[in-house]
Amino acid sequence: MIFAILNGKLIERNQAKMDIEDRGYQFGDGVYEVIRVYNGKMFTLQEHLERFERSTKSIGVSLPYTMDQLKSLLLELVEKNNLRLGIIYMQITRGVAPRNHAFPEENVEPTLVAYTREMTRPKDELQTGVKTILTEDIRWLRCDIKSLNLLGNILAKQKAVEHGCFEAIQHRGQNVTEGSSSNIFMVKNGIVITHESNHLILKGITKDVILGLCSASGIPVNERAFTLKELAEADEVFLSSTVAEVMPIIEVEGKVVGNGEPGSITRKIQELFVNEIEKQCGAL
Ligand code: PLP
Repeated sequence: MIFAILNGKLIERNQAKMDIEDRGYQFGDGVYEVIRVYNGKMFTLQEHLERFERSTKSIGVSLPYTMDQLKSLLLELVEKNNLRLGIIYMQITRGVAPRNHAFPEENVEPTLVAYTREMTRPKDELQTGVKTILTEDIRWLRCDIKSLNLLGNILAKQKAVEHGCFEAIQHRGQNVTEGSSSNIFMVKNGIVITHESNHLILKGITKDVILGLCSASGIPVNERAFTLKELAEADEVFLSSTVAEVMPIIEVEGKVVGNGEPGSITRKIQELFVNEIEKQCGAL
């Protein structure tokens, strides 16, 4: 039997039902997290919980659980579902109330949902690298909130899929922001460059792990916006996310990156990242 969490209780996955006036369903009025599980252990759990709390605060939803309660709920979920390799999806919405844009007047209990899914690592792509396209970033100006409102991201990703690509690299005017569900990095003359974590991008947990690893191993990083021109002239390009890890990019909008193979700094960061996973979760 597969279980899910609904409002603090572990229930059978197919018994987890939502009200049609849940504000997550009607407005995308909520926030979420995706957490990787390797060897039955949650990777960077604390960082995900902290971002989850930050996201809830920034939309004025108060978490009805302490961090410790959430942590034990998720642990129990992973154990009950006997998840070894996969993800936890967790979201919280403002709750159920008669449809009205403004927040509900009376105190409404937020709806918390979490479930697991088995998911392998994208091993082939991590080896070969992936192709990407470019697309204008049409999203709102609070991309730092991990909001359920993902229409801009969805449209971008669909465009990538229709072009036979793994990811769409978004840009606001001439500046590259991030992927539809990933952060984007470029390497030039040995320096790793990635957009600073401000309101225009999601502060990726994977991105932060990478920045920490770079700084610990003396790989220079410059956290700043870079242009489409710089991207086109980059020696290496890669993306990062909880699901895709450190993914080499070998093509941007039909143009080959470097010599068309994952670059040496990308490879080094991949190696450091796998070591970090193994440190937290055991051998892969
Ligand atoms: N940027 C966006 C828009 C995302 O949706 C994601 C992850 O889904 C990321 C970046 C990467 O974040 P993380 O490394 O925390 O998974």
